[in-house]
Amino acid sequence: MSGSYTLIQNGLIIDGTGSDPFLGDVLLSGQRIVDVGVEASASCPEGAVVNHIDASGCRVLPGMIDSHCHISFDHPNSNDELFFHRREGLAALVAGVNAQKVLRAGFTSFFDADSVFDVAIDLRDAIEGGVLQGPRMTSGGNVLINCVGGTAARLLPDEGTRGYARIVHTPDQIISEIHKQIKAGVDWIKVHVSGLPIRPGKHKGEICTWTLDELKLVCDTAHQFGIPVVGHCRDSTSTRDAAAAGFDMILHATYMDDEALTAVVDNKVPLVPTFTFQANLADFGAAIGSDESLREVFRAEITESVNTLRAAFDAGVPLLTGSESGFSLTPYGDWHYRELQIFVEDLGMSPLQAINSATEQGARALRMEGELGCIKPNYLADILIFDGEPETNVAQLGDADRFRHIIKDGQLVDTSTPLPKQWHLPGWRVSEYSEKILTKELVQSMGLNL
Ligand SMILES: [Zn+2]
Repeated sequence: MSGSYTLIQNGLIIDGTGSDPFLGDVLLSGQRIVDVGVEASASCPEGAVVNHIDASGCRVLPGMIDSHCHISFDHPNSNDELFFHRREGLAALVAGVNAQKVLRAGFTSFFDADSVFDVAIDLRDAIEGGVLQGPRMTSGGNVLINCVGGTAARLLPDEGTRGYARIVHTPDQIISEIHKQIKAGVDWIKVHVSGLPIRPGKHKGEICTWTLDELKLVCDTAHQFGIPVVGHCRDSTSTRDAAAAGFDMILHATYMDDEALTAVVDNKVPLVPTFTFQANLADFGAAIGSDESLREVFRAEITESVNTLRAAFDAGVPLLTGSESGFSLTPYGDWHYRELQIFVEDLGMSPLQAINSATEQGARALRMEGELGCIKPNYLADILIFDGEPETNVAQLGDADRFRHIIKDGQLVDTSTPLPKQWHLPGWRVSEYSEKILTKELVQSMGLNL
């Protein structure tokens, strides 16, 4: 499209900054926005070829950003499936289709926190190289974890790699793994700072499994190459120490105490609460057979954490929207919008603030602050033309039929070619002998003859 222009006319512009919507036009050329406002067309050189898109009655807003996805997982319903049933080539092919589902949900960018093999890095390069259509991405590699913790407990080996996890114990192992990942092309180093206690006790949430010195070593090593560090932190100690060590972003940051909150506020560390996974399990877990006690635990993580997260937001800490898409509870394309809804309903944000979290603030996860996530001159032309009123009802953003057009990099996204909804791949899912154990008592209770 270089040399030609596109004028999006007469839309109500939600520019992503949190400001009130305003009526105007948006002029694009190539990948970028050239001008915004009622006089935008005046910036078009005389004689230029101009494409017109009528946005009358629609909202024109930045492409949204999901700051916490796992594109290579293909919604496993257990760690067993994720760790033992994925193959590198097939995971990459499947991720290429799933990425298009994210894009068609109006999310033109996402951050992949960690992936199986190097699938997310390769997918990012394939999208950037024009091999297939997909959102713009930044990507971590395997998450750095010592064998205690994570959300997989004893499934982690003592050494080596399993699923998305790379086991490191010593300072030498930490440094060499970070070097290898940077060589492989990661945008972020991710650390699993907290993990499930092996023997559950009274501790709220997870336990911190890294020392402050180890976390500082991660930051020193990665920052030397200009690579930021992100942590999975679901307790106060892990959040506090990650913030103090110099982490550049924190996922979850739930169960913060005063010290953790102070560390986060002092360092203005962007937080990605990622409540969608918990909310989906709490609200809809019954539909997919999740345990009721688990549903209560997950709802509690939200209700017990919203006040501190709100306090962080009020103190100027950026909150980003992340859906944790990639699991059976958060299939690609369906739930990315829901974090905005939770930000409004549970954190008390206004819809425009929630949209700001999913656009201008989300650019932090893409490392593209100042050029992504706003409808402003010189920003990348990732734009949604939306038939609805998201400034009063962000839940509408979950309705794919309302996207009149999705534009990424100045190009209209093809939303008409159907994508496969599900697939059957040999050895891809966990297969079970049975759901129940065949006791004699069960047989008798069913009135069957022994
Ligand atoms: Zn995650």
